[in-house]
Amino acid sequence: MTDCIFCKIVAGDIPSTKVLETERVLAFRDLYPKAPTHVLVIPKDHYANAAELAKADPALTGEVVAAAGEAAAAEGVAGTGWRLIANTGPHSGQDVFHVHFHVLGGKPLGPMVS
Ligand code: 5GP
Ligand code: ZN
Repeated sequence: MTDCIFCKIVAGDIPSTKVLETERVLAFRDLYPKAPTHVLVIPKDHYANAAELAKADPALTGEVVAAAGEAAAAEGVAGTGWRLIANTGPHSGQDVFHVHFHVLGGKPLGPMVS
């Protein structure tokens, strides 16, 4: 997708701070972190949201979630705990329509929905 910022990050056209990379998955730091640890984990291929990814490629969905766990460990929050969020659609506040899982941690995160 030529107009997608996360496709551009995958292509290297927009810089990012990578946390880990596999053949099909990329994890990089969020540019505007909402917690001390805030990593975004994405499939390199473009899907609009988590439901579309899961419908199209369940194995890749598993790879992305596994990479989220590895990113949490790499960031040092595996022991203290972390949150995995995939915003989907208008009520969630999804801004970027290339599926991404937020890995949040590094402090007590409080209630899930405010
Ligand atoms: P959403 O609201 O769609 O779930 O989350 C999009 C996330 O992408 C936000 O947390 C935002 O800070 C992050 N973001 C937006 N543009 C960029 C960018 O160019 N680089 C990085 N690393 N993160 C970005
Ligand atoms: Zn994309």
